[in-house]
Amino acid sequence: MKDLIQKSFQTRAVHAGERAPAADYTPVSTPIYPSVGYLYESMDDMDAVFAGAKQGYVYSRYATPTVSAFEAAVASLEGAEAAQAYSSGMAAIHAALLAAGVKAGASVVAALDLYGATFTLLRSLLASLGVNVRMVDASDLEDVAAALAETQPAALLVETISNPLLKVADVPALAALAHRHGASLLVDNTFASPYLFNPLAHGADYVIHSATKYLSGHGDVLAGVVAASAENKNKLYEMNKLIGGVLGPFEAWLALRGLKTLPLRMRQQCQNAQRVAEWLNSHPRVSKVNYPGLPVHPQHDLAERLFEGKGSGGVLSFEIKDADKATAYRFMEALTLCLPATTLGDIYSLVLHPATSSHRSLTAEERLRIGIPDSLLRLSTGIESADDILADLESALARL
Ligand code: PLP
Repeated sequence: MKDLIQKSFQTRAVHAGERAPAADYTPVSTPIYPSVGYLYESMDDMDAVFAGAKQGYVYSRYATPTVSAFEAAVASLEGAEAAQAYSSGMAAIHAALLAAGVKAGASVVAALDLYGATFTLLRSLLASLGVNVRMVDASDLEDVAAALAETQPAALLVETISNPLLKVADVPALAALAHRHGASLLVDNTFASPYLFNPLAHGADYVIHSATKYLSGHGDVLAGVVAASAENKNKLYEMNKLIGGVLGPFEAWLALRGLKTLPLRMRQQCQNAQRVAEWLNSHPRVSKVNYPGLPVHPQHDLAERLFEGKGSGGVLSFEIKDADKATAYRFMEALTLCLPATTLGDIYSLVLHPATSSHRSLTAEERLRIGIPDSLLRLSTGIESADDILADLESALARL
């Protein structure tokens, strides 16, 4: 502001130090821009930004520079034209469903073993708003084809690697089936992350992430993102201007910083998970291990083909022989390195009891139908030494 020095103390307290002239240097890492509003030399310029004719920012519910930087980074890693960030993974899933045309009277076909909150979003909230929801076994392509033919849905929703049973979706085949019936394919790529797989390159229309997990990676930010074509990004953007489920600039900055080490973290987490899965698979107290990296896994070959040998993800689940909820809880309490916290994809190893956390919102019958008994535990391997993780599991199993 010109002549600020001549203004009163009260006015200087408000404006002093603000709005430095545009700089001729470039910060190496993206700054956090918490500003809600943005200024232009002329009101015509601001008008052009409002109209979308000029690149820029006007109001932080529409877009902000730090969030745009995170979106550009995710779009690059997913091989997408663009991405739209959200305040959580659930907000991202909801937004992608709406952008794909899910509304009252429309249908959605979805994998039966989705993350619990996604299942409940579909079966309770969207169903109560008049959406016809059909759950299928996404690994059974005939079952999927029959549901698509019968319901002619707006969207087919699957997870690349499902939570918590680690089923792998045949994304190229599902994309062909969805498109044959005029449906968009929505893929929740949270578990695989773009390190293992890019669903858009295999025919998906919207790729969703709970960026809370592998993308951010450090258990300190809640975020979601959808990667898509420029046309679909525009639908997401226009909708989010009205719905307002935006990511804050501080969270975007943390997520962008986390993203830089995604390949290093994922490589280590995949290696750790593979070793732990093989070890658990031969442990006498363990009756079943779900991990696509094991040759006994029903979609092992598919995982090898889709992930091109880069690994099979950092999450596995397993059943303790004859365990009820109390035994599963005692096992979790006996662990000292693996943390019993409700999340995944962190640098820390994390263990969770799906029946009473991620899938708590389902009825007991629904859980049993999907295959989530009380004896099931989910482990997300961190980047610690695999030897230390195994020693922790060994001592906790021995104490049962
Ligand atoms: N998708 C998957 C596969 C998840 O595991 C989760 C959360 O655990 C979500 C979506 C929801 O993400 P958020 O907790 O960031 O809303």
